[in-house]
Amino acid sequence: MYEILDDAARRARAYLASLADRPVAPPADAVERLRALDEPLPQQGCTPAQTLARLDELVTPATMAISGGRFFGFVIGGSLPVTVAANWLAAAWDQNTGFYAVTPGVAHLEEVALRWLIELLELPAGTGAGFVTGATVANFTALAAARHAVLARAGWNVEADGLFGAPPITVVTGGEAHPTLLKSLGMLGLGRNRIVRAPVDAQGRMRADALPPLPSPAILCLQAGNVNTGAFDPFAPLIAQARAQGAWVHVDGAFGLWAKATPALRPLVEGMEGADSWATDAHKWLNVPYDCGIAFARDAHAMRAAMAITAEYLPSESEHRNPSDFTPELSRRARGVEVWSALRCLGREGLAALLERNCRQARRFAEGLRAAGHRVLNEVVLNQVLVSFGDAQRTREVIAALQREGTCWCGGTVWQGHTAMRISVSSWATTDADVERSLAAMLRVAG
Ligand SMILES: *Cc1c(COP(=O)(O)O)cnc(C)c1O
Repeated sequence: MYEILDDAARRARAYLASLADRPVAPPADAVERLRALDEPLPQQGCTPAQTLARLDELVTPATMAISGGRFFGFVIGGSLPVTVAANWLAAAWDQNTGFYAVTPGVAHLEEVALRWLIELLELPAGTGAGFVTGATVANFTALAAARHAVLARAGWNVEADGLFGAPPITVVTGGEAHPTLLKSLGMLGLGRNRIVRAPVDAQGRMRADALPPLPSPAILCLQAGNVNTGAFDPFAPLIAQARAQGAWVHVDGAFGLWAKATPALRPLVEGMEGADSWATDAHKWLNVPYDCGIAFARDAHAMRAAMAITAEYLPSESEHRNPSDFTPELSRRARGVEVWSALRCLGREGLAALLERNCRQARRFAEGLRAAGHRVLNEVVLNQVLVSFGDAQRTREVIAALQREGTCWCGGTVWQGHTAMRISVSSWATTDADVERSLAAMLRVAG
């Protein structure tokens, strides 16, 4: 009955092995063949083997090779093989991870994974945390804790009474905050258009000498790792000013928070641990499967107040931590399994080596492109490189031609008015040979 799992393993191995030689972007004819999926819902089913074969035959060729070593879009990386395997095992367990009493194994494992993360990222002891789908929801969750705390201090219970009639909250973000942070603030009723956007410098860093006032209740949102330049807000001076005014400080560190995990990059995040809440993605630089983000709040009580459910039929007070007290979801898969597996398998040293290798590879891209006369627009402080191949039109043409050529995949962006190609090096699978091969393709296509 379960042979189908061996079939899946065989197909997955063949797929991963094929990535070395196939184009990174799916060929147009493979995308065209997806039309075969547009059949009516069948009256009668078929065997599991036939179902899987059809999936593999039609969808596999139309995938982007994100798990290979030459995908440089969106700062997302691939999945470490051990995390894919752990994901399969966890799927077989089929644990609904809301309550300790029901699924103690994964609840315990997630608690360990969160404790390791808090240590690794040097966050304060006692920090509350939860596994969510990604940084968008991690920002949402942490900022819900912020909204609870700053309004509670003003004598208002936002969970019970909502925002109508509540004291208005001042929300300040940098002018180069990630668009999903604004979405999260909007979902919390804080209004995308009423957010105060603080001035930033040429790398997208919030200027510590130009922080707008933060009259209470207030939330200041900082950023670890700008999605274009990789730059970090100057945490220490900004957090000191926010603290003096009683504001809650949140850090969106979807990929940049991982800089804490290696001494070589730690100076970039200096002072970040002085904030009140943090959001990061494990499905980006920790290289675990989608979807996996993590929300942290220094004040675990505020996070619980914002997220806990109470219902008669649900197990409530217990001596153990219930995962659902810290996340928007009640039912969910055990995302922490893959995080635990990545951390257990890599160890501190393995993770530091991965982060440092990707940063070195980004510097190699920048150096190779500059040497060929192309303009690198950012200071390459992390894993991000922005390169222009001339005017906007020409840069867009080079990006499109490179994507068609297939050796590697990079996206486009507009950075402070300049059209650029964005190279994000975030994968465990990227070898130095992948970098050289991709760089040669870039120079060939641009030449
Ligand atoms: C990717 C990213 C997000 C959004 O993360 P998702 O996991 O896609 O929800 C938010 N902020 C920053 C800085 C990012 O890089």
